[in-house]
Amino acid sequence: MKALALHGTHNLRVIDAPDPEPGPGEVLIRVKSVGVCGSDLHYYKEGCIGDAVIRDGFIMGHEFAGVIEAAGEGVSVREFRVGDRVAVDPSIACGQCEFCLKGHPNLCLNLRFAGQPPDEDGALRQLVNWPARCCFKISDAISDADGAMLEPLGVALFATDLGKVQLGDTVVIIGCGPIGLLTLQCARLAGAGRVIALDKLAYRLKAARDLGADDTLLVTGDSHIESVLDWTAGRGADVVFEAAGDNDAPRDAVEMARRGGMVVYIGIPPKDYIMFSAHSSRRKGLTIKLVRRMKHTYPRAIQLVESGKIDVSALVTHTFPLHEGGKAFDLVSVYADEVIKAVIEPNA
Ligand SMILES: [Zn+2]
Ligand SMILES: [Zn+2]
Repeated sequence: MKALALHGTHNLRVIDAPDPEPGPGEVLIRVKSVGVCGSDLHYYKEGCIGDAVIRDGFIMGHEFAGVIEAAGEGVSVREFRVGDRVAVDPSIACGQCEFCLKGHPNLCLNLRFAGQPPDEDGALRQLVNWPARCCFKISDAISDADGAMLEPLGVALFATDLGKVQLGDTVVIIGCGPIGLLTLQCARLAGAGRVIALDKLAYRLKAARDLGADDTLLVTGDSHIESVLDWTAGRGADVVFEAAGDNDAPRDAVEMARRGGMVVYIGIPPKDYIMFSAHSSRRKGLTIKLVRRMKHTYPRAIQLVESGKIDVSALVTHTFPLHEGGKAFDLVSVYADEVIKAVIEPNA
């Protein structure tokens, strides 16, 4: 099979690798679509996220969907048949550690995660073995690319769960990349009365309006905090979701929240710290939550996309074959050609 391997930063090459064989409880998946994620960009550009450092030949990719090509021992045909289309949860939690048993598989002590350096190769290859228990059948109402989008949708759903959006709430979304645009849609469905979306890129604000934002604000200098406060009569927003992944957004989020409000940090900042005003956050009595991936979201995400309540297709703006994977990463790195989500098709 072919795989797209990372040989140091900015250096992606197609390599030949042996076809994997499914082990017990695993299915062999022919990978149809893989989303390029902001976290992958950190590996591509910087070679790491914190202490997760790439090795030579590392394979990225954790947002993916495909078709079952074979099943290992112990996978029942009632669960899966060859030819079933599946979306894949990239997290394999052990199910046995303290945090799994407490209902937090996203915090598992023994977690394996697709495309997590140094050892767990991801889905940017033609064939992947994965535990059947982490695969979810999708109907033909969901395209391959939409199937790959169920992973970022899961993150947005989980963030919305944590934000506890109430009917009629004013919600601010900072950052209108894929996660921000999905969180925006989730917050609306959860009952937000007004959604204000912010970004530094005008084309992403247009996407936000198309997907249901009531107000949008182009971030240029520092005036966006004042604007949000003006728009909410000085009160601030009930819930602020930070999905920008830069080092200013967490600070801004705190300033935009109302007294007693909620701030949810989703983004991965480039520097290894989050800074916000101690006085503002303390005086307002804010609740601040940090999102670690997701949990218990796939069946809900599938339902929301199948029923048309959440539009993931609108976010998939670019598609590349495996041998042009480097182009996909370069495009997303510089936000060229109004890209929102680029997907790579390893078997195209
Ligand atoms: Zn991702
Ligand atoms: Zn565990």
